[in-house]
Amino acid sequence: MKTLIHNAALLSFQEGLRKGGNALLIENNLIRAIGSYDELQPLVDGNTLQIDVDGRTIMPGLNDTHIHIWKVGNLKTYMLDLRGASSLEEMLDTIRDYDRKYPDLEWIVARGFNEAGWTNNRLPEKKDLDKIVPGKPVYVIRTCAHIAVANTAALQFAGVNAATKIPDGGVMHLGDDGEPNGILSETALGLVANHIPPYTKQQLKHMVLAARNEMYRYGITAATDPAVDPLLLEAYKEMNEAGELGFRLNAIPILLPDGGEEPYPLPELFESSFLRLNTVKFFSDGGLSGKTAALKRTYKNSTERGVLRLVAGQYRQLCKLALEKGLGIATHAIGDAAIEFVVDIYKEMHALFPNSIRRIEHLGLPEQKHLQEMAGNGISASMQTIFLSELGKNFIRYLDEDYLSRCYPVKSVLDHGILAALSSDAPVVNNFNPFKGVYAAVSRKDDQGNLIAGGEAISIREALQLYTGNAAKISGVKEFGKLEEGMLADFIELEKDPLSTPIDEIPELKVVNTWVDGKIAWSA
Ligand SMILES: [Zn+2]
Repeated sequence: MKTLIHNAALLSFQEGLRKGGNALLIENNLIRAIGSYDELQPLVDGNTLQIDVDGRTIMPGLNDTHIHIWKVGNLKTYMLDLRGASSLEEMLDTIRDYDRKYPDLEWIVARGFNEAGWTNNRLPEKKDLDKIVPGKPVYVIRTCAHIAVANTAALQFAGVNAATKIPDGGVMHLGDDGEPNGILSETALGLVANHIPPYTKQQLKHMVLAARNEMYRYGITAATDPAVDPLLLEAYKEMNEAGELGFRLNAIPILLPDGGEEPYPLPELFESSFLRLNTVKFFSDGGLSGKTAALKRTYKNSTERGVLRLVAGQYRQLCKLALEKGLGIATHAIGDAAIEFVVDIYKEMHALFPNSIRRIEHLGLPEQKHLQEMAGNGISASMQTIFLSELGKNFIRYLDEDYLSRCYPVKSVLDHGILAALSSDAPVVNNFNPFKGVYAAVSRKDDQGNLIAGGEAISIREALQLYTGNAAKISGVKEFGKLEEGMLADFIELEKDPLSTPIDEIPELKVVNTWVDGKIAWSA
């Protein structure tokens, strides 16, 4: 089966794309040839489908290298989405309405509030939740997923009280009465979360498919799920086996479950056309938006410095075991203290396993010194400029001038020669459209127009490279990410050329068709 796409403006962000090419010949699931319409005619036969794309721009499919796919789908299916709540009262009303609408639910689980945008910007507590739903367990996760609030019924169900032993790297907040006030941070989330009835494999699959449709709409044809537990991995493998995935998935299993004592067993390396497993995941700290990322100095107007979640001995040992097995490692690190901790261990691992994948997820506040060490020790980064849009207000509230002036420093990272990619960390952000991430990388503006570390701006071309070719590279992929002969035919048709679109119009740029594996998977 051959398809000739012609009258296209081809855009590929890498050296070597043939000048003057405006046609693409697809054979089965591969890009067979690129050239002018006339040049490709000898390869065309009577059965070749010919498509005139009317001058539209064609570029490689976008690749989100850090997106919690099933959680994106969960908020469209089984979990109450609180991301629109503009006040504590609105959040509580939403939960109350949901309880009335679904009275048979045993638990109410919700996610997405961000108190930084509220006039009274305090975190909700159990007493707030008790007022609206007293009788059944309620568990509400902050947008960052590093902080959650449980009501009294949930704490009781989980057997959590002032005497409960808190796991390393976690915090259980107490009220004036000495009892838990319902707020849990980092690994302490597991104290309650582990008692919520788990989703079934079937539900997980349903969530993944719900997320996929939105991914297609944004032109995302490849994605990395950076926190896969054993049941989700089974679901992914079964979907892959059944040909149901429909996008290139890089699954990164976690080894240390929240609130658990024992690590999960190391997963097996796996590679197929749609599913790849070549890396395992650790969390070294929390997030900036909720002041749980581990900093060397305190947060602005606060005595807090965040939470360092890993113990060096165990981390080093697990990294070694993974690397010995041929797996790479990816570690969540946002604050400067966490980044230093991770870079130090990665340097040791570089000496032992120089060719392995060693990624830092987020890389919010690295110092110059860390960037030099990353460049010298083959450490890559998956970063989220898209945070600037939705969470910029939190950064401005919690970070002093010095920290703010160097947060998510993508330009410095590239100037140091570090391999980096962009991603969304959705559902931490509500809108994970990569063109919003590109806009934030170029404009460095938050949703209110505030400039954040303006000196770290990169070009549209660079940002798109970070969402395509670089994204494939940091995942250890050679089969897609560019328009090139022999590559998998995963690409998108855009209504306009992003390189000549004014930057303010970039977030609205529309995908017309999303192609995966040589076929149109989604059409506007
Ligand atoms: Zn994440």
